[in-house]
This record gives sequence, C-alpha cells and structure tokens, in this order.
Amino acid sequence: MIPRKEILSRVKRVVIKVGSSVLTAGGDNLKEGVFRDLAKSISILKEEGYEIVIVSSGAIAAGRKNLSCFVKPVSIPQKQAAAAIGQARLMWNYEGCFNKYRQMTAQVLLTQDDLSNRQKFLNARNTLFTLLHCGVIPIINENDSVVVDEIMFGDNDILSALVTNLVDADLLLVLTDRDGLFEKDPERYKNAALIKLVEEINSETEKLAKGSTGKLGTGGMLSKVNAAKKTSIFGIPTIIVNGRKKGIINKVFTGEDVGTLFLPKKSKLSSRKYWIAFNLKPKGVLTVDDGAKKAIVERGKSLLSSGLVEAKGIFEFGDLVKCVDTEGLEFARGLVNYKTEDVIKLKGIHSRDIEKILGYKYYDEVIHRDDLVVIEGE
Ligand code: GLU
Repeated sequence: MIPRKEILSRVKRVVIKVGSSVLTAGGDNLKEGVFRDLAKSISILKEEGYEIVIVSSGAIAAGRKNLSCFVKPVSIPQKQAAAAIGQARLMWNYEGCFNKYRQMTAQVLLTQDDLSNRQKFLNARNTLFTLLHCGVIPIINENDSVVVDEIMFGDNDILSALVTNLVDADLLLVLTDRDGLFEKDPERYKNAALIKLVEEINSETEKLAKGSTGKLGTGGMLSKVNAAKKTSIFGIPTIIVNGRKKGIINKVFTGEDVGTLFLPKKSKLSSRKYWIAFNLKPKGVLTVDDGAKKAIVERGKSLLSSGLVEAKGIFEFGDLVKCVDTEGLEFARGLVNYKTEDVIKLKGIHSRDIEKILGYKYYDEVIHRDDLVVIEGE
C-alpha cells in the first residue's frame, strides 16, 4: 500500500474544489469566516511552495436570496440570474480574505463548450499557467449565466476533474460537508465507518456513493466519486475531506489520515487522450464485434471498418463517438474519421474497399488508435 505521505511528497500543484455547502456552512448565505479560514490555510500552502488552483461553487447560493422569483422548482434561468448576482460576491469574499495574506486571486469562468474546443482549452491552459507562474491563485467556476443545458458541466465536481487535467495538477482535493466516503450512509447509520483508502474505483465504490446527497451542492457523493474516477484515469490521486472542519487542509498536507484517499491508476492517460474522453460530448455510438474489441482493448489497435456492427447517432468527421460491444457495454471512445451515413456503409467491409464504396477515402481506420481511448462505461 502506498502511504499518504509518499503520495503527498510528489505533489506540487493542487486543485482544491470547494462546495457551496462548505462556503455557506450549511446556512443560506456565504460565511465570511469560512473564506478567512480557507485563505489562511491556502496561503500557508503557497508559502510552502505549493501551487493552488481553486474550483469554487457558491455563486448561486450567494445570489439566490436577492431574487424574489427564486422559489422551488427553480428554473435554469433563475439559477443563472442568481449566479450573475452571486459570482461577484463570491470573488469579493475570496479577494478580500486572500489580500490579508498578500495573495493575489484571479477569476476564471469556464463552460463545457470552452473546454471541448481544443483551441479554447489550450488558451485557458496558457492563461492558467501564466497566473500560476506569476504566483496568482486562479479561482474557477462554471460560467453559469451563459450556459444552456446541453453545454453544462452539470456540477463543479466534474469541472474540478477536468481542471485537474487542464492545469496538469498532481492532486485533486475536494472539500465537502462529509468526512469522506462511508461504508454506509452516515445520515442513517450512526456507526457507519469512514473508508480511508480506495485503491480502485469500481461499481461497488459507486454504489456506496449513491444516495448520500449534500443539501446545497448539485452533485452529492456520487459525483465526487465520479470526479475521483476521472482523475484516477489521468494518473492523479483525489482526497475528499470535510471542508467544514477547521484546519482540515493543513491536516491533509501534513499527511494526517483524514477523509478518503482515492489512488490513481498506474497507467496514466495522456493529456490529449483525457481531453478526448472527458471534455467532448459523444455524438454517436458504434457497435463493434468481439474481435475488434479485443484488438482495441488488449493490443491498443485502431478501429477498422471490418469490426463495425452498427452505427447510431448523427456525427461528422472528427466528432467523438462511443464504442460499445455487442452487449451494449461501452469500452472505448474516440474521434471518428467518417460521418454517420458513411460509417453505416462501411459496416463489416475491408479497409481496402473504403474508396470503392464511398468514392473517397480519408483514412484506413474508422477511429485511429491515437484518437481512441479505452475506458470503462461512463
Ligand atoms: N456553479 C454553481 C455555483 O457557483 C455550483 C455548481 C455545483 O454546486 O456543483 O453556484
């Protein structure tokens, strides 16, 4: 077993995700005292040489009281309006508290759309690297006021996992209102034991995470575990701790056994492949026969037309598609080299016949292995 201290000794750049339930201390407004504690702990880390990127929720929580129309059920435009009010307050709190420790902060608002565009992704990356290089603490949130349903991250847990890749961080630290992942729901079972270490996130882990949802945040424990799963695929560990406990951040970095540590997978996905797998939205599904699946999963091969069984969805050249086996289980995803109508025509045929059938040929492969990521069902 890899001891925590050894893992932490390799950490320099950290993404700290702060949930709304932490910033409001369970109440219905941002609590300045929480910001003060965060600023103090994070400033200590900065002085010790760590680079910190914060992914912070709390905009909606900070703005909703001022919207008289913010009543349940809350619509997306109402949340967006609340976020437009609250985001400035959120930053005002961070800036004020960090200033006391002579730390500069910067606001970066992102949408799923921004990160799914490779050029914008790289631009955001360059901005963040420049901020870190200048010793500034970037504070990232979803650009809630401009997103519509299809291009929403959904919650900041997913965003924090993507940011971990975006800035090439060494650790994702999630601050929430629970002590970590429990064997049983701690709300219902007082004797529920905290799981200190998760070596591999599997369906059992996901089952444990289901059902325990924080009051204010959108994600609950399941989306935190999903974020940890994504970062583990990128070769990065995640620690989930109770951000409402004073001094918890510094306890993490002195190697205390707090919260739940999720170990990374041994084989690290390249940054570009991670981007392909998690920043883009799949536009279609290709069903693949067993032989082709084996070649892809076990031997890292490309997907050829001879292994295609079925194609669904509406996609164009370069779009992301899922690859599923004949049982419907997703095992890979990648950038497809032909549009839907053409992929349908190519089912089961040999690559040398592509030109004869389509009248043109871009590539021999339907998905080239450089653009193909083997992954368990998402
Ligand atoms: N972006 C939202 C906010 O700032 C939070 C989403 C979440 O809680 O995951 O209020």
